[in-house]
Amino acid sequence: MTASTGPAVTAWATAAGPAHDVALTVLLEGPLPRSEIARRLGLSAGTLTRLARPLLDAGLLVETEGAHAPSGHPTRPLDVDESAHRFVGVKLTQHTAHVVVTTLRARVLASDEALLLSSDPAQVVEVVASLVTAAVGRAGAGGAVRAVGVSLGGSVTAGGSVVDARFLGWRDVPLGPALQAALGLPVVLDNDLLSLSRAEQWFGAARGCDHFAVVTVGEGVGYAYAVHGQVVDHPDAGIGLVGHLPLDPNGPLCRLGHAGCADAMLSTASITTRASLALGRRLHRDEVYDLAEAGDPVCRRVVDDSARALGRLVATVGALVAPRKVIISGEGVRLAEVGAAALQTALVENRSPQATPLDVEVQVTGFAEWARGAAVTAIRTFVLGEGS
Ligand SMILES: [Zn+2]
Repeated sequence: MTASTGPAVTAWATAAGPAHDVALTVLLEGPLPRSEIARRLGLSAGTLTRLARPLLDAGLLVETEGAHAPSGHPTRPLDVDESAHRFVGVKLTQHTAHVVVTTLRARVLASDEALLLSSDPAQVVEVVASLVTAAVGRAGAGGAVRAVGVSLGGSVTAGGSVVDARFLGWRDVPLGPALQAALGLPVVLDNDLLSLSRAEQWFGAARGCDHFAVVTVGEGVGYAYAVHGQVVDHPDAGIGLVGHLPLDPNGPLCRLGHAGCADAMLSTASITTRASLALGRRLHRDEVYDLAEAGDPVCRRVVDDSARALGRLVATVGALVAPRKVIISGEGVRLAEVGAAALQTALVENRSPQATPLDVEVQVTGFAEWARGAAVTAIRTFVLGEGS
């Protein structure tokens, strides 16, 4: 669920009905010649002209310098003034806040991060507010900040409260109103996985794909999917439902006592713990991957076991929801790169030989990508209206 708070951030939403469809098509696919917009939306040239005029007058759309059409007539494709509107995305983790400042098309202009020395909400608000203010300043002049999106692993309410974010020990924390008071800007909260998935849909690997799934690996294991162009939201979206899916009967135990569940096989803590135990010294995540790449047998085995489990998870997603594409993402995605061969083997082994091969895209991301997802939540609220 997306929750927004504070002043309306719905300038775009005032363009209703077909006019809004025109604006949205240009935002997501533009710049586009008028003839192409009319074709895509099934409009006559006259209707498009009538719909576009108020959008141009209001500055939602602009005419760009175009090329010459095959007929020889000059064309002036329609576009959005991408840089006139700015958005901030914030991703909160247990120990850090990551921020990006973007354009209307989620192009990152500035990014930064800060340590959260305390999970006390008032201190988190203070850290995030100064981080956002500094990043907006670094993005430079030229556009007005329209909204701030904040994403975290947990569930949020329509009133801008965090219902439950276990990693911060938060229950019923009114983060949205507090942050808005500190920043003087509209603030929108979102579940991190849903915001990342919506960002993929509008400005990422799932553009133009109305049926896709996202699997994330990192501190935990996340899964979201979209059907008929909608990322599916539900009350348990922030819980991490696939975390305890069984993937390897011989795997280690999770904290609930499941052998080889997704959490036990794929979480960063599990991967580093297994490698550290075997080698008798404490290893960080990237050390495990570096050593695996360098041929260390322990780290290679740990990574391959986990990558095989990831392949089973992705194959399961492919079998149950038949997506056109599965995106593997998250800050722990190096697992899919270093363990690419084992992942691919498991994908093939766990899929019917008659089935079309799964289209799997591994997206190399970091926390900045999560923060960009939060910015897209803010963009969507601005463009679509509240409760996007
Ligand atoms: Zn488990």
